[in-house]
Amino acid sequence: MDWIRGHTIGRGSSAAVSAAKSIWSGEVFAVKSVELSKSQLLQKEKKILSELSSPYIVSYKSYDVTKEKDKLIFNLMMEYMPDGTLSDVIRKQGGRINEPLIGYYTKQVVQGLEHLHSRGIAHCDIKGQNILLSKTGAKIADFGCSRWIESGANPIGGTPMFMAPEVARGEEQGCPADIWGLGCTIIEMATGGSPWTNLTNAASLLYKIAFSGQSPEIPKFLSLQARDFLSKCLRRDPIERWTAKQLLKHPFLEESNLNSTSIQHFATTSPTSILDQDIWNSVEELETMNSTILQKLSSTESPLQRVRELGSNSSELERIWNDDERWITIRSSSSE
Ligand code: ATP
Repeated sequence: MDWIRGHTIGRGSSAAVSAAKSIWSGEVFAVKSVELSKSQLLQKEKKILSELSSPYIVSYKSYDVTKEKDKLIFNLMMEYMPDGTLSDVIRKQGGRINEPLIGYYTKQVVQGLEHLHSRGIAHCDIKGQNILLSKTGAKIADFGCSRWIESGANPIGGTPMFMAPEVARGEEQGCPADIWGLGCTIIEMATGGSPWTNLTNAASLLYKIAFSGQSPEIPKFLSLQARDFLSKCLRRDPIERWTAKQLLKHPFLEESNLNSTSIQHFATTSPTSILDQDIWNSVEELETMNSTILQKLSSTESPLQRVRELGSNSSELERIWNDDERWITIRSSSSE
C-alpha cells in the first residue's frame, strides 16, 4: 500500500469514503472502500468512472485491494473534492441559493451530463447529494447506480424523490431520467426543499410520480428564463424532455456567466440553517428498506403492477420509511 488512509469524509448506503494521501508524492485524494466480497457495485462504478474524462465529473485515479484488520478491501481512488456536496452548500446558505449561483452550478452539471450521455452512460441518481464541490465549482459524483444505456434490461435504481415518471413506473431509465433528476435538483437549490411535498411514504410518492400526470411545482419566484428551463427538464414524457445538449443552448445557461472567482460574491454566508435535521443522508437501517422496495419493484408481474402493489401495501412501507428518510438511493445488488 503506497498510500495512507485518513479520516472518513463520507458514508453512503454502500461504501465509506476517506481522505487519503500518497506516500510518495504527498498528493491528497479520496478513496471509496468496501469489503472485496461485497464490492461488485463499486467495481462497476470503477469501470464506468474510468471511462469518463470531464472537468465536470469527479476524476478517476486508480484502484487497488488492501488488507485492513484481516479483511480484504476494494478501494476506488478518485479526485478529492474538499467543499462537500451541493446539498451541504444549500443547507449552509440557509436552505436555498440564489439564482446566479443556481445557474452556475446547473451549467456545470449539464456539461457533465452531456459528456456522460455522449459516452452512452446514464447516471441514474442525480441529486444534490451526488454533486460535489471544489473551488472550481461542481462535479458529478457517485456512479453507483450508473449504467451503459445499451446494456439491455437493467433493474431500476436511484432515489425515489428524484425519480422520473417512466422510472417510477419501472418502464425505462436512460438519459432523460437524469434530466428529470437535474430539474428536481434545481428545485432543491432554489427552495432547499423536496420536489414533491406532503408525501409521507415511498409508496404514495412513487405512485404520485408515476401516475398523477403532475410535475413538481416550479418555484414562482424564479426568473422567467429559469422557470422555462425547469419546465424543459420536468416534462413528464421522456421523449419531449430536453437533452443535455439542448439545455446547454438554453438562455438560462447561455447567459449564466459567473466564474469561480465571482461566485465568492454570491455565496454569502448564511445564518443558521433551516434544515438542521439530517434529512438528506442515508442511514444504516435503510439497507432493509432498500431491499424491501427493490423486491417489490422487481418481483411482481408488470411495471405498472409493481408500483400499484407498492401503493396498496403502503402501511408496511410507512413503518420503515418516514419523512426524514426520503433521500436514499435504491440499488440492486443482484444482476449488476
Ligand atoms: P449513496 O448512499 O448516496 O449512494 P455512496 O455509498 O454511493 O452513497 P458516495 O455518495 O459516493 O457513496 O459518497 C458518500 C459521501 O462521501 C458523499 O456524500 C461525500 O460527502 C463523500 N465523498 C464521496 N466522494 C468524494 C470525493 N471524491 N471527494 C470528497 N468527498 C467525497
